[in-house]
Amino acid sequence: MTAVDLDTRLDGVLGARTAGPLEKAFGLRTVRDLLHHYPRRMIERGELTDLSELHVDEDATVMARVLSSREQGYGKSVRIEAVIGDGTGRLRLVFFGPRQRWRLRELEPGTLGLFSGKVGEFRGERQLAHPEYKIVSDDSAVAADEFAGALIPVYPATKDIRSWIVANSVQHVLGLLDPVEDPLSDAVRERHQLMTLDAALRAMHRPESLPQWFAAKHRLKWDEAFGVQLVLAQRRVAARANPAVPRPPRPGGILAAFDAQLPFTLTQGQVEVGEQLASELARPHPMHRLLQGEVGSGKTIVALRAMLQVIDAGGQAALLAPTEVLAAQHARTLETMLGPLATAGQLAFGESGTAGQLAFGESGTAGQLGGSDLATRITLLTGSLSASARRIALLEAAGGEAGIVVGTHALIQEHVQFAALGLVVVDEQHRFGVEQRDALRAKAEQPPHLLVMTATPIPRTVAMTVFGDLETSTLRQLPAGRSPISTTVVPAAERPDWLERVWARIREEVVAGRQAYIVCPRIGDEAELAGAERGRRQSEAGTGDEPGEGYGPRPPLAVLDVIAMLQDGPLRELRLEPLHGRLNPDDKDRIMRDFAGGRVDVLVATTVVEVGVDVSNATVMAVLDAERFGVSQLHQLRGRVGRGSHAGLCLLVTDQPAGTPARERLDAVAATTDGFELARLDVEQRREGDVLGVAQSGRGSLRLLSLVRDEELIGAARAEATELIDADPALTAYPLLAEQVNELASDERADFLEKA
Ligand code: ADP
Ligand code: MG
Repeated sequence: MTAVDLDTRLDGVLGARTAGPLEKAFGLRTVRDLLHHYPRRMIERGELTDLSELHVDEDATVMARVLSSREQGYGKSVRIEAVIGDGTGRLRLVFFGPRQRWRLRELEPGTLGLFSGKVGEFRGERQLAHPEYKIVSDDSAVAADEFAGALIPVYPATKDIRSWIVANSVQHVLGLLDPVEDPLSDAVRERHQLMTLDAALRAMHRPESLPQWFAAKHRLKWDEAFGVQLVLAQRRVAARANPAVPRPPRPGGILAAFDAQLPFTLTQGQVEVGEQLASELARPHPMHRLLQGEVGSGKTIVALRAMLQVIDAGGQAALLAPTEVLAAQHARTLETMLGPLATAGQLAFGESGTAGQLAFGESGTAGQLGGSDLATRITLLTGSLSASARRIALLEAAGGEAGIVVGTHALIQEHVQFAALGLVVVDEQHRFGVEQRDALRAKAEQPPHLLVMTATPIPRTVAMTVFGDLETSTLRQLPAGRSPISTTVVPAAERPDWLERVWARIREEVVAGRQAYIVCPRIGDEAELAGAERGRRQSEAGTGDEPGEGYGPRPPLAVLDVIAMLQDGPLRELRLEPLHGRLNPDDKDRIMRDFAGGRVDVLVATTVVEVGVDVSNATVMAVLDAERFGVSQLHQLRGRVGRGSHAGLCLLVTDQPAGTPARERLDAVAATTDGFELARLDVEQRREGDVLGVAQSGRGSLRLLSLVRDEELIGAARAEATELIDADPALTAYPLLAEQVNELASDERADFLEKA
C-alpha cells in the first residue's frame, strides 16, 4: 500500500463500500475529513451508561449489560426481547422477525455491549427497537481490535453509519497514516503547551487516558481558534495597508462650533472614544472601528462628532441605519442636535421635510445664528422618497452639498454617488455584513473610514472572532441623570389579574403624562396570514421560530389584533397607533412623529422599535409573548423606556409556566440590566448554536471551539496570530500554515465569521 497522508481519499483506503456511506452521511472524503470527524465522547470500558438520563427520540449509544433475554412466538413472527441495564436504569431491546437463534445467544445475560439506536417508548417503558449493537469484552487485553483501548469513542452516528463503523474506519486509517507534519512551530507549541498535530489526531480518536484525550482536544481546538485569528489578522494588515484620505481635525470648524453649543457635558467615555476616532481619522489609512455601548450610552453624538471632523476636512459622511424609521429618526436627531449648523443650502432646496424639533429632546434648538458659513446639510435618502425628492437627494450627495447622507443599508446597493465620501457610520452592526461594508467602500475613490456602532454588547470572544477585523471601543458609562429600568415577568396564564395590572399601569402612566409601548411578535395583517413574506416576518419577530411551532395551538399575538382588543377594551380612552414594518413609509413616519410629539399615547408595535427609537417621555413597555424574543432583543427593546428623567418599567408578559427554560430566560432578563452579562447568556443560548449549526451543516471549521467557554484560548490565539502576521503577513516562513489559512480565508467556511 502506498503512503497514506491527510489528503488521501477515503475510498482508496477504506474501499467504496465504507467510504461511500461516510461521504453520504457526513461529507467525509479524505483522511483529513475523517480524522476531523471527532468522537462526541469517550466511554470507559465497563463503565455503564446512566440509562436514566436518556430521552425519548434521542439517538443514543450506550454501554450496558444484558440483564435478561427471551424469545416469544414462532415461525416468521418471532420477537426477541432483552433488557439491558446499568444498575440505575433499564432499557428494553426488541427485535421482530424470523427466528434468530444467534441473536439470542449473543444477548446472553451478563454480556457487555454497546447498543445504539433511537430511544422509543412503549407502554410507558423506554426501549430501543432493532438497535445495532456490538458485544464488548470486559477485558481490554483480549478486546476486539476496533476497541483496543480502555476508552471507546462514540461518534456522531446515523442509522446507516453506526459509531463503531466510524471507529473501525478511523482505526484502520490511523494504522496506515504517515506521521503528520505540524504546521505550528515548536516555540508556539511550547508556549501554549500543545501536543503535536500528529499526536493530537491520534489521541483524539484512540486516547490512552481521558487526560490525554482532553489534551488532544485542546490542541485541535487551538488550531480552530488560531486559523480564524490568522485570517482576521491578515485582514487587519491588509486594511492597514490601504490608503485613505486623512481627515484631521480643523480648529475653528463646524465641530468646534458644535462642541461650543452642546447642551450637556460629554461623558468621560465619549471624550476618550472621541479622541481615539479623531486621531484615527487623521491617519492616511482607513479607520476600522466598532463602537459598542449600552442602549442610551450616547453613541450618536460620538458618531456625529466624527462626522463633523470629516466634514471640516472637506469630506462627506454617510450614516446607515437598519430601517427607514431609524434612518428618518437619525436625520431628525442630527438636525436637532446641529441646529443652525445644519442649515447650509436649505433655501435652495425648499422645504426639507426632515426637520422636526418637536420630535426629539426636551428643549428646542438654539436660536438662529444666521450665518451659514459654518454649516453643513443633512440629506435623508431612503427608498420611500418621492421621485423628485430623491433626485434632489442624489444631487446633493453627488455634488457634495450634503455633508451627511442618512439612509438605510439599501443605500449601498443603489447608484448613489458621493463627491467625497470620507466616513461611513453604520448603526446596529449585527444586521450588516462584511460584503456590504465592501460594497460601501467601493463608493469612494479611496476606502472611506468606517465606524460601526452596536448597542448589543458583544462578549469579548465574539468581538474577537465575529468582529475580529475591527478594532473595538466601548462606552460603558451612561450619561448622568438616567433613570433605572425595572423589569417584571408577568405570568399571564397563571395570574390573569396581573395582566389587568399591566393595562392599568399603562393607563396610570398615560394619565401622568407619559407614553407606552406594547410590543408583539407578529403583525397580523392579511399578507402575513396568507403566509406571504415569510422571511420578512421572521426577521421582524427576530427569533426565527415559526409561529405556533412548539407553542401549542395559539398563534403568537399580533399587533393588529392586540390594538383592536385594547382599543375596544382596557385602553379605550387612550390614543393608540400601530407601528410595524409593513405600514407604508408615510404612515410610519407620521405615526413616529405623532408618538414623539406626544400626540399618540401608546404605540403597539413589532420589533421595529427595537433599535434606536428615542422618545424620552415613554416610560413603560409591555412585551407580549415575551418568550418569543431573544435575550439581547428584549434588552434592546426595554432600552426604549427610561430614557428621560422618569423611571422606566418593562413588563415581560408570557404564558410560559414557571420552571421552563423560556421562563428562566425571561427571569434572567428581569434580573439584570447588565448588557454584557445578557449578551453572554445570549451567545450561550443562541448565537453559539447558530455558529455551530453553520459549522456542522457542512465542512465547518468550528467543531470544538466554544465562544462562551474558550475566551482565554481565543485571546491567546489572537495575540499569537497578531504577532505572527505582523512579522510575516504572508506566512512565508510557515508554508503549511499559509496553505491552511488561504484555504480557510477563501472557503465558504469563513462565512461563519460574518453570520453569527
Ligand atoms: P445610543 O447609544 O443608544 O444610540 P443615543 O446616542 O441615542 O444613545 O443617546 C441617548 C440620549 O442621551 C440622547 O437623547 C442623547 O442626546 C443623550 N445624551 C448623549 N450623550 C449625553 C451626555 N453626555 N449627557 C447627557 N445626555 C446625553
Ligand atoms: Mg443609537
